[in-house]
Amino acid sequence: MKMSPTKKIVIVGGGFAGLNLAKKLANHKEYEVILVDKNNYHFFPPLLYQVSTAFIEASNISYPFRRMFQGKENLTYYMGGLTNLDQANNTIETENGSISYDYLVLAMGTETNYFGMENVKAKALPMKTIDDALQMRNHILLRLEEAVRATNIRDKERLGNVVIAGGGPTGVELAGMLAEMNTNIVTKDYPTARKGQGRIYLVDAGDSLLGPMSKKSQDEAYAVLNKLGVNVLLNTLVKDYVDDKVILGNGESINSSTLIWASGVIARAVPGLPAEAVGRGKRILVDEFNRLQNSANIFVIGDQCLQATDEKFPNGHPQLAQVAIQQGKLLADNFLRLEKGESLKPFHYNDKGSMAIIAKFKAVVDLPKGFFKGFFAWIVWLFIHIIPIAGFRNKGKLAFNWFWSFVTNDPTLRLIIRPQKEAKKS
Ligand SMILES: Cc1cc2nc3c(=O)[nH]c(=O)nc-3n(C[C@H](O)[C@H](O)[C@H](O)COP(=O)(O)OP(=O)(O)OC[C@H]3O[C@@H](n4cnc5c(N)ncnc54)[C@H](O)[C@@H]3O)c2cc1C
Repeated sequence: MKMSPTKKIVIVGGGFAGLNLAKKLANHKEYEVILVDKNNYHFFPPLLYQVSTAFIEASNISYPFRRMFQGKENLTYYMGGLTNLDQANNTIETENGSISYDYLVLAMGTETNYFGMENVKAKALPMKTIDDALQMRNHILLRLEEAVRATNIRDKERLGNVVIAGGGPTGVELAGMLAEMNTNIVTKDYPTARKGQGRIYLVDAGDSLLGPMSKKSQDEAYAVLNKLGVNVLLNTLVKDYVDDKVILGNGESINSSTLIWASGVIARAVPGLPAEAVGRGKRILVDEFNRLQNSANIFVIGDQCLQATDEKFPNGHPQLAQVAIQQGKLLADNFLRLEKGESLKPFHYNDKGSMAIIAKFKAVVDLPKGFFKGFFAWIVWLFIHIIPIAGFRNKGKLAFNWFWSFVTNDPTLRLIIRPQKEAKKS
């Protein structure tokens, strides 16, 4: 006989944090779990840049929630974006209806931060979602088609130049991939598009690339990108983007019909939350158990929260996949403890190191006690990034796509399949 679940947990956001929480609560029938997400699939952000550069397929790094929840009787998926929180009535509103909860978990991650630059927000290409990556792929391919048709050098230069704002892992990975795409693909597919006019600029306000990583990793990224012909501009701000001109803080400008914004994030807002619940980067303040301050039944996990109780991370944790995964898993354990009347366990981040890929056969890995780079680091990067991909078939398809793309240097995914999404075309 089916037992009736006692408590309803509503999780908003099925990213690394929310999904790991839901999966760990699967088949614990003392809880009914509803996962609310505006998309009907989970996806893997660290590989978005490979989708946006037509290296792998979007379906390689995404997986439908309903497929994941098949056979898990206490888990259901609800499609909807949160629009309001009504704490007094233990209810959330979504664009598709309202849902009541006994416990609410917010795990909605972050969105792109344009630092108040309206022109940049209107015209630059963000890199946060599958939609963004597909739109970027279309944009890059459409600009190349235009460059083929362009008759003067200035237009070819404007259409061929790509400016990436933000020299963190995403900016570095994109710059390396686009530089290799220029050499391996553009010269063959679009021989008349650039004629040496298209250049890649990587612009960062700081004095190094890969800001949070070790000096050795930063120097390696700079050296590899330099060798690939990327123009790295450090200590340089992007100030504005007007008429296909990226205006820099030093007064100079770059003609480019492509500005990729990989420069910052803020936590997603939750309408209905009091202003005092929100801290730096719009992250929601939580205690050591990821519980919203002054609340007994609302928790916040992953990128969306700011937890200053972990001794090693007094300013909050870095917004990384591992933090989100570990918080999601611990919260699941804590829900089970709660049910048994046991006391909750506080969160402590287990930092396993960080890594970034720079180009084919080139990556850097920072471990808590060491650093390595080159081919071995590249292999480790591939291995580490295939493990968490949802679904066995997806892992296989991704491995095959990588093999094919790296061996041939010529994947065949350069399809413009959503031209109507080109709303941001200059
Ligand atoms: C391009 C890119 C590359 C990255 N590379 C790395 C890397 O190499 N290594 C690393 O450790 N980290 C990396 N990160 C960071 C990492 O992806 C995040 O730290 C991690 O995804 C945070 O997990 P999360 O569950 O908190 O949020 P997310 O994974 O962002 O998930 C949030 C979920 O909430 C849903 N959502 C959003 N708004 C709403 C709403 N209003 N209503 C309902 N649902 C909503 C979204 O659809 C999504 O499913 C990268 C991030 C990006 C964008």
